Amino acid sequence: MEERVTPMMRQYLEAKRACPDALLLFRMGDFYELFFDDAKIAAQTLNLTLTSRDKGEDAIPMAGFPHHQLESYLAKLLAAGFRVAVCDQVEDPKLAKGLVRREITRIVTAGTITDEALLDPREPNFLAALALGDPLGLAWVDLSTGRFYAGVFPRGSLLDELVRIQPSEVLWPDESSETPPELDGVMVTRRPAWVFSPVHVEPLLTRQFGARAIEGFGFSWDDSQDVPALCAAGAILDYLEETQKTRLPHIERLLRYQAGRFLEIDEATRRSLELVRTMREGQREGTLLWVLDRTVTGMGARLLAEWLAAPLTDIGAIRQRQDAVAELLERPDLCQRIREHLRRVFDLERLITRITTGRCTPRDLLSVAKSLRQIPPLQELLATCESDRLRAIGDAVDACPELESRLSAALVDPCPLAATEGGFIRDGYHAELDELRQLARGGKEWIARYQAQEIQRTGIPSLKVGYNKVFGYYIEVTNTHRDKIPPEYFRKQTLKNAERFITPELKEYEEKVLSADERAKELEYQLFVELRESVLAHRGVLQATAGALAELDVLSGWAELARERSYCRPRLVEEPVLEILEGRHPVLDLTQPEGTFVPNDLHCGEGAAPVILITGPNMAGKSTYIRQAALLVIMAQMGSFIPAKEATIGVADRVFARVGASDDLSRGRSTFMVEMIETARILNSATKRSLVILDEIGRGTSTYDGISLAWAVVEYLHNRIGCRTLFATHYHELTELAELLPGVKNYNVAVREWQDQVVFLHKIVPGAADKSYGIHVAQLAGVPRPVIERAKEILMGLESAHLESSKTLAGPSRELTTGDGRAIQLTFFEPLEHPLVEELRELDLNRLTPLEAFEKIRKWQEQF
Ligand code: ADP
Repeated sequence: MEERVTPMMRQYLEAKRACPDALLLFRMGDFYELFFDDAKIAAQTLNLTLTSRDKGEDAIPMAGFPHHQLESYLAKLLAAGFRVAVCDQVEDPKLAKGLVRREITRIVTAGTITDEALLDPREPNFLAALALGDPLGLAWVDLSTGRFYAGVFPRGSLLDELVRIQPSEVLWPDESSETPPELDGVMVTRRPAWVFSPVHVEPLLTRQFGARAIEGFGFSWDDSQDVPALCAAGAILDYLEETQKTRLPHIERLLRYQAGRFLEIDEATRRSLELVRTMREGQREGTLLWVLDRTVTGMGARLLAEWLAAPLTDIGAIRQRQDAVAELLERPDLCQRIREHLRRVFDLERLITRITTGRCTPRDLLSVAKSLRQIPPLQELLATCESDRLRAIGDAVDACPELESRLSAALVDPCPLAATEGGFIRDGYHAELDELRQLARGGKEWIARYQAQEIQRTGIPSLKVGYNKVFGYYIEVTNTHRDKIPPEYFRKQTLKNAERFITPELKEYEEKVLSADERAKELEYQLFVELRESVLAHRGVLQATAGALAELDVLSGWAELARERSYCRPRLVEEPVLEILEGRHPVLDLTQPEGTFVPNDLHCGEGAAPVILITGPNMAGKSTYIRQAALLVIMAQMGSFIPAKEATIGVADRVFARVGASDDLSRGRSTFMVEMIETARILNSATKRSLVILDEIGRGTSTYDGISLAWAVVEYLHNRIGCRTLFATHYHELTELAELLPGVKNYNVAVREWQDQVVFLHKIVPGAADKSYGIHVAQLAGVPRPVIERAKEILMGLESAHLESSKTLAGPSRELTTGDGRAIQLTFFEPLEHPLVEELRELDLNRLTPLEAFEKIRKWQEQF
C-alpha cells in the first residue's frame, strides 16, 4: 500500500513507526490531524468528526482540530490514559522546497508533562521507575521542577511507596513476571528490561550529572545496595531522552531517599486516615492535606504534599520547623507581610523548568523578574527573625539584582506570550531595535506624506494609499478620476469602481518598512534568547531560592492556621507517650459549626496504659477519637502545630490505621481477608515506638470469630509489642481485657438521656460502656415493655451460654489468657485444635508396642 501513498502520507507513516504506542498528532497547516485507528480513537475520545482523506477505495480515516487547541485536547487524551506524540512542521512552509519537513518534537505522557496548562500547580507530577529485585530500586522525578529522587526499599513495601509518592506514571520492566499493582490514576508504561541494566544506565547518569557526581550524591556503583536505585534512576533518564527530545539540564541532582528518617505510613493507613484523598469521594477537600494547606504559591503547595508524604522522626529537625512557626505566630505582622510578598511570587520552580526546556514565553521571563523583586523586602523581614529555619531561608534566597534589573529593563509589562511576534522589548533597551522600529514607524509616516503629495501632484482628491497582504502597498484611484492617472503609475489590480497602482518609489519604501518590521521581530527574538540564557546562568541560585520560598510559604501558612484555629505547639519527646489535652479532629474542627466539636483528652503510652480500648454505640464518636490521635501525631511530626490545648508526643516510627471491613465495602474485595492481611502486617512490623489505630477490627466475620480475633490481636500488641494502641470496638466482651492485662484501659463515650432521647456527648470518659445499651435505647424509643423485658432475658441467656462455650472454644476466656502468649500467637488465625488431635499427631507409631497403644486409648477414654 505504501507504494501508492502520497509523499506526505509516507512521511506520516514513518513518524508513526517511530512511536507506534502513541497517538500521533500530525501538523498540517493550521491543524493537527490524526489518521487511521488513531483518528477513530480521537474522534470518540475527543468528540471530533471522523472524516476521510483520499475518498474512495483508498479512503483513510481522519480527524483533526485547530493547532491552537492543542493543549486542551492533549489534556483530554492524557486524562483518558493515552500517550501522545506531537509531529510538528520543523521548517517554514513558505521556504520549504516541496514537502515541508516534519519531526516528532515530543512525546507527552502522564508522567512527563511540562506544559503549564496541563499541570495542577498545587500538585507535583511524578514519573517513577522501579528496578524489581530485593531490595527494590525506586526512582521518581518531577519533570516540571527537576526534583529527582532514588532509593532502595524492602521488596514488600512497593505498594506503600507508590502510594506515598503518587506518581502519575510508572516505568515497569517488561519481562518481569510480576504484574504492576493497580493504582487509581497511575499509567503503567512497560519498558524493555535491558533499559534498567547497569551497563545501559551508567553512561546516561554520567552524561546527565558528570562523571563523579553519583558519588557526590552519596551513591556508589560498588555498593550492591545502591545499584537498584541507580538502575531505576537511569531508566528514567532513558525514558526522558526518548520522550522529551531536548536536554534537561534542570535535573541537576539525584537526591537519596533514606527510609527510616521519615515516619512510615503505609498504604492502608494513608487511605483510612484520609491524608490526601477522602475515602468515599476521593476528593482533596475534607482531608488532612486540605486542612494544612494555607500556601499561596504552587511551590509551597507541592512542598507541603511532600512533607505530608514523609513526616520527620528527628526531633531536632521537627523543632526547627516548630520554632519557625512559633516565631511567625508570635509576630502576626511579620507573618502577614511575608505572605503578602509570597502572594506576588510566581511559580519559580516551574518557570525555571520551562525556561530550561526552551518552552517559555517572554511573559515567563517577566514573571521571574517580578518574583525576584519580592526577595529584597523578604530578606529584610527575615533578617529580623531568630529561628534557625527562617534565618536559613533568608540566607538561601537570592534576589539576583543584576538579572532582575536586566529583565525589568528589557521587558514591557504586561508582556505578550509569543516570542516571535515582537512587541515585548521596551523602547530604549536596545539601540538597533529602536532604529528598526523607528524606521518601520517612520516609513508609515512617509506613506502618509506621499499620499498628500500625490493628491496634490495629480489633482485627484480621493487618491488613497492603502495596504493589503497580497499586493502590499498600492495607490487607489476611483474610476471618476481615471483620466488624471499619470503614466508612471503601474496597474496592479482592477476593482469594480476603482483601480490600484504601484510606483517604484512606493515599492522601495514598502520594502524598507516591511523588512524593518521583520528585522525588528527577528532581533527581538534574538534578545529574548539572550535574556533566557541569562536566566539560565542563574539556574542554581534560582532553584535554591524557589525551594526556600516554598518552605517559607508552608511555615507561614501553618502559623496563620495555628492562629486562626488556636493550635498549640506539641512537645516532642523520645519516650513512646501520647498525652493530649483537649485535642480536636483537625478536619471536623474546621467543618463542624464553630464550637460544636467536643475536645477530648488522651493519655496513652508509658506511665499510662499503652492500650486504650474504646467501647460505645455506633455514631458515638469512637472512630473520630482514635483517628484524631493519629492525625495529631502526623501533624506534629511534620512540624505543624496541632488542634489541642496542650500535648506531649513521643516520636513514632510508624503509624498504622485500619478500619474494620464493613466500613470499607467500596473496595469490593474479600474484605475480611484484606482486613486480616493488613492486621497481620501490623503485628509483623509494628515496634514499641509505633502507633496503632484499630477501628472495629474483626467485624467482617461471625461474632465469635470476630471477638476472638480482636481479643488475640490486642493481647499480642500488649504482650509482644507494647506499642501505643487505640482500639475502637462495639464488642463489649473485649472490655474484660482491662481486668486481665495491666496495660489495657477502658474508655467509653458519654451518653445522656434527655426527654426520652439519647444524646451523644462525644466525650470520652474512663470505664467500659453499658452493655445493655442497645436495649436501653430501644426502651427510650418507646418499644413496648414486654419486648424490652424479653430482650433482657435473651441477652442474659446468650451471655451465660457464651461464657460456657468460651471454656472449650478458642474464644476469649480467663483460662486462655493466663496461658503463655506463644500458644496464642501460633493459633489465633485458625481454630484451636483439640488436645487429643495434637497428641495423636505427635505419636511415633514405630516406637509404640500394641500394649502401649491400647493403654493410651484407654487413658484418652477416661480423660475426654
Ligand atoms: P463511631 O465510630 O462511634 O461510630 P464516629 O466517630 O464515626 O462514631 O462519629 C460519628 C459522628 O459524630 C461524626 O461524624 C461526627 O459528626 C460526630 N462526632 C464525633 N466525635 C465528635 C466530637 N468529639 N464532637 C462533636 N461531634 C463529634
